[in-house]
Amino acid sequence: MLDKDNNPLFEEDLIKDYSHGRVALIGDALHTADPNAGMGTTLGLEDAMYLSKMLRDHDYKDAFYYFEHDRKPRAEKVFRSASLLDNLDFDHAEDYAFFNDGIDAGWDK
Ligand SMILES: Cc1cc2nc3c(=O)[nH]c(=O)nc-3n(C[C@H](O)[C@H](O)[C@H](O)COP(=O)(O)OP(=O)(O)OC[C@H]3O[C@@H](n4cnc5c(N)ncnc54)[C@H](O)[C@@H]3O)c2cc1C
Repeated sequence: MLDKDNNPLFEEDLIKDYSHGRVALIGDALHTADPNAGMGTTLGLEDAMYLSKMLRDHDYKDAFYYFEHDRKPRAEKVFRSASLLDNLDFDHAEDYAFFNDGIDAGWDK
């Protein structure tokens, strides 16, 4: 059994600023979603694609601004629902699957 209180995998922390100067963060460096959610790779890839697109179309300052402005709400929504998933104590696997499908549907919006 994992000791979630003392395991860095379950640390809950959100970075406020997505960039500083000419450096921007993506993926787990920004939002290490609870691994139970299975969403970390998705978020990281989305970050990479969105930031690439912004850098293609804007100078880096505007690109970093749009990246943070546009990505933060989704990243924080997934992060918080992933934490919620971890804090629930399901007795039955089918209840877990039902709940997980429900928040997956919310994440896709
Ligand atoms: C147990 C577990 C299960 C998971 N299951 C899923 C899942 O089913 N689905 C899903 O989508 N996600 C899952 N995740 C989350 C997913 O693995 C991460 O969200 C994803 O790997 C984050 O990618 P990243 O590139 O941001 O960071 P990372 O994959 O951590 O990549 C960072 C890289 O930087 C390297 N690095 C660090 N410091 C330095 C340095 N100073 N110099 C050079 N290199 C450095 C590291 O070695 C690493 O290779 C799971 C995570 C865990 C722990």
